[in-house]
Amino acid sequence: MSDSTIRARFAPSPTGHLHVGGARSALFNFLYCRRHGGKFVLRIEDTDIERNIAGAEQKILDDLRWLGIDWDEGPDVGGPGAPYMQSACLDQYHAARDKLLAEGHAYYAFETAEELNAMREQAQAESGGFKYPRPDPLPLAADADKARAVGRPVVVRFKTPTEDVTIHDEILGDVTLAAGELDDFVIVKANGWPTYHLAVVVDDARMQVSHVLRAQEHLMNTPKHVLLQRALDVTTPKYAHLPLVFNIDGSKMSKRDKHKAVRQGAKDAIKQKTLTKERVGEITGADAKAVERWIKKKADTELSMEQVVALAVELNVEMPEIDVFDFRRSGYVPEALLNFIALIGWSPGGDREKLTLDEMIEAFSLERINKTAGRFDREKLLAINLDWCSELPTPRLLEQFKDWAALNDCFLGKLDDDTLSAVIDACRGFKIFPDIVTKAGILFEPDERVVYDEKAVKKNLAKNDGAGFAMLEQLRDALATVDDWSVDHLDAVVKNLVEATGSKMGDVAQPLRVAVAGRPVSPGIGQTLVFLGKDKTLNRIGRCLELRGA
Ligand code: GLU
Repeated sequence: MSDSTIRARFAPSPTGHLHVGGARSALFNFLYCRRHGGKFVLRIEDTDIERNIAGAEQKILDDLRWLGIDWDEGPDVGGPGAPYMQSACLDQYHAARDKLLAEGHAYYAFETAEELNAMREQAQAESGGFKYPRPDPLPLAADADKARAVGRPVVVRFKTPTEDVTIHDEILGDVTLAAGELDDFVIVKANGWPTYHLAVVVDDARMQVSHVLRAQEHLMNTPKHVLLQRALDVTTPKYAHLPLVFNIDGSKMSKRDKHKAVRQGAKDAIKQKTLTKERVGEITGADAKAVERWIKKKADTELSMEQVVALAVELNVEMPEIDVFDFRRSGYVPEALLNFIALIGWSPGGDREKLTLDEMIEAFSLERINKTAGRFDREKLLAINLDWCSELPTPRLLEQFKDWAALNDCFLGKLDDDTLSAVIDACRGFKIFPDIVTKAGILFEPDERVVYDEKAVKKNLAKNDGAGFAMLEQLRDALATVDDWSVDHLDAVVKNLVEATGSKMGDVAQPLRVAVAGRPVSPGIGQTLVFLGKDKTLNRIGRCLELRGA
């Protein structure tokens, strides 16, 4: 079934890297378009100029492309709906504002923030709720000019009709907001920029968006958008609000979790007197008041993500992965992350869990999206990543590993492609890329870097009157004569010794492993020795034998 009139969009604000919740919205819009032969549009919503972060737009584009999501129209590829950056569309928003004002759907207001706060406090004290009281008569343009002249902030508010608003949601069904629930919300701010509500409605209409798939946290915005669409006389797209993404403990997954982890780390350190608030100020460059408010959890916004990261590094606190880029840096492959994200709040039916992007496109339907929140189960993500990493072809893993290594400044990334491919294959069964370093990294480091794990030495070498050391001597002698330093041949040498001495495999291979790697963990024994080469193998065995009697 192909429907070229379907146009869906993903509309992130450039406030940082792409969050996994945002990635899920992007993915579902993308899948829906690809499933039905529609067009997928990417639009950058950057009208909230105080929240914009320089460079964030490019990061979001990169995060999406890393996941394998592409778009038919957008800021970097153009298209009939250009420009795809809201900041380049001020004229359109102003035209909409003028139309709404001229037709009596909007009016000027000029309260200062302090006056609004006082009104809110008074209303809350008297009746428990605040709704902006619509003035009667409504201010005119001349009043707005006068207010501006005396330095008052002039905004434009929407004259919200007093009627029930029912929106139809493709997932949740009809959702009604009773008359009077909405007040006259601001559509143009004092700085002349439209609020999100006006901009999103103007752009969805301008770009002929037919379907809006977005997170449920926007559900209560949708009645506002529908009322604005009616007032502007434009078509209302079909809406589908996607279930929220929760942490496994039931809290909402958000970048706040990063603040939470680092705040806890800072509080613990302050308690243990290894940190002072002054030092937090030095590390972050924030003033004392901001530090105090941040620590007391008055406001996360007191510290930027960069400042929080600086503190995390200093305190050695691990922050939970929240953004797509966090998972990339932690060593997940995009295929797995995308697969996992697709399953938060959607299922293809049956027991199917592992899906390629093409399979997702084939299976996608709005009917199979859940109404209730999805859980972000990190254990499951690890399992899915392991599955994908077991099956992906080596060249693809090589490419992804090198990307991960570059991001983490990991020395293994500098190996030549053939060796690195062999390392990756020898470590298959790994969950995430750092596991490869844990398992095989030491084989590519200088011999002096081998740290012998005491317990492992005791168990595999020293026990039973140094049986392991004795075996190691035999191994050294056998290996010293080997010319064909290949996996098969070296495996055969070990096996022969097992047979000749009537030992178990572990009694021969494990002392050797500990001798060359410091711990009883490494790839297959023949492969381990091949990665090391003959000289290093014999050198490490020699160094290990020196531990005898130590
Ligand atoms: N810019 C909004 C956000 O990032 C978009 C919401 C929408 O899809 O309408 O949440």
